[in-house]
Amino acid sequence: MQLITVEDVWKIYRLGEQEVPVLKGVSLTVAQGELAALIGPSGGGKSTLMNILGCLDRPSRGKYWLDGEDVSELTPEGRATVRGRKIGFVFQSFNLLSRTSALDNVMMPLTYAYPRPTEREGRDRAVALLERVGLAERMHHYPSQLSGGQQQRVAVARSLINNPSVLLADEPTGNLDSKTSREILEMFQKLNEEEGLTVLIVTHDQNVAATAKRSIKVMDGLIVSGAFAPGTEPVPA
Ligand code: ADP
Ligand code: MG
Repeated sequence: MQLITVEDVWKIYRLGEQEVPVLKGVSLTVAQGELAALIGPSGGGKSTLMNILGCLDRPSRGKYWLDGEDVSELTPEGRATVRGRKIGFVFQSFNLLSRTSALDNVMMPLTYAYPRPTEREGRDRAVALLERVGLAERMHHYPSQLSGGQQQRVAVARSLINNPSVLLADEPTGNLDSKTSREILEMFQKLNEEEGLTVLIVTHDQNVAATAKRSIKVMDGLIVSGAFAPGTEPVPA
């Protein structure tokens, strides 16, 4: 079974009287355990697609199954529950809460954990994740006291706190220098190889895409290559 199956998904924005299609019938599969890059020029619809895959937004038309569940027609509350339990997010701008320590940032998504751990268990898990991303000494620091690379490590630890089925990273190295970028990408590769975590990285950077095993190319609202998980291409009619 595929972890992600998207079938003929459209996203149409309404601007006044005008309808603007941004995704124009996207079909896609991602198997459990893949490390894939979503590539393509700016404005092509990568983030729009990622927001749908992450249940931050819903398709205007079409179907999306995540882990066997049809999530294309959930209510906003239903999507929040799925996000909390199944999806880890890493963003270009880190998106940490500024008045909150690294440790508390990592613990934040525990509100959505299922089953919900005790405070103590959740805290132990957050500490272990911060150790794993190399921030054991910094867990009581605020984001402003951390470098960009360290903030992104906190964000990666936060993305993992609820044992997600898939990690979605939208331009995760867009605000980082090349050395720090490599370190973050190596973390994704390690999580994929050692834990079998499914990782999808959105990028317009070829060097970033080259670290993935598969490239899915998005242009002008369509997937122009790499739409199907290896070995699952639909048989032509
Ligand atoms: P990418 O991430 O590949 O750069 P996006 O998904 O951000 O592309 O955007 C694709 C297109 O959708 C762009 O032309 C953008 O202007 C348009 N778009 C994105 N969000 C909205 C919105 N809320 N309303 C109208 N148009 C949007
Ligand atoms: Mg984008």
